[in-house]
Amino acid sequence: MEEELSAAVELVDSHAHLEARHFAADREEVIARAIAAGVMRIVNAGASLPASEASITLAEAHETIYPAVGIHPHDAKTLSETTWVALQALARRPDVVAIGEIGLDFFYNLSAREQQVDAFRRQLALARALDKPVIIHDRDAHAETLAILRELGPYRGVLHCFSGDAAMAEAVLDLGYHIGVGGPVTFRNARVLPDIVRRLPLDRLLLETDAPYLAPQPHRGQRNEPAYVRYVAERVAELRAMSLAEIAQATTANAVVLFRLDHRPTKRG
Ligand SMILES: [Zn+2]
Repeated sequence: MEEELSAAVELVDSHAHLEARHFAADREEVIARAIAAGVMRIVNAGASLPASEASITLAEAHETIYPAVGIHPHDAKTLSETTWVALQALARRPDVVAIGEIGLDFFYNLSAREQQVDAFRRQLALARALDKPVIIHDRDAHAETLAILRELGPYRGVLHCFSGDAAMAEAVLDLGYHIGVGGPVTFRNARVLPDIVRRLPLDRLLLETDAPYLAPQPHRGQRNEPAYVRYVAERVAELRAMSLAEIAQATTANAVVLFRLDHRPTKRG
């Protein structure tokens, strides 16, 4: 039987994909379980133009959800001039809290590397022009990602599902970025990430699920959902020898400030 996660602490899931087809059958229940577990705010990342549109639609129906829009490196090949114009229009909306997820994925290479780099650069420039934070995906492209971020200079955003080493963590922290930590920190074979999490400045740490992907222990291998960010928080608290309440309070404050989650221009208040 699955134990119920209680709402003793308030958490933010700073990265989820609730518009994904994986949630078609029970999306409302998933969102209700998140709220019941104290996950009061969820940043829903856009991975393509249709996913970004769906992210906005979902956020319009749910107070809990804050939309981000962007073209994932997998979909960089879809960034035509038409797509770019449409994406810019979405990005300008006051309810859109970030540009992402954007970045480089040299593991799957589902789009050509030159297309990925072009899409990443254009969207980084768009975020700066709009003064919005970025949500960065980097898989097996650490050197290239860092080179681009360094070239552009200090900015704000998150290296989501951080998979770099300690030196890269230090470099992106120096540039002003946050580090997003999700399910992989709970995996029993995790070595590098727990060490980074132990030493990270507390004010740069964000918790996330990347739901439906990368479910934490004890749900590894199953569909992930925002309520499970609690398992990530528990592991991070253990690694830092802090209480769950302290980690929840700090990471919630970090996400609220970075994504301006207390500011909801097109919604109530
Ligand atoms: Zn993602």
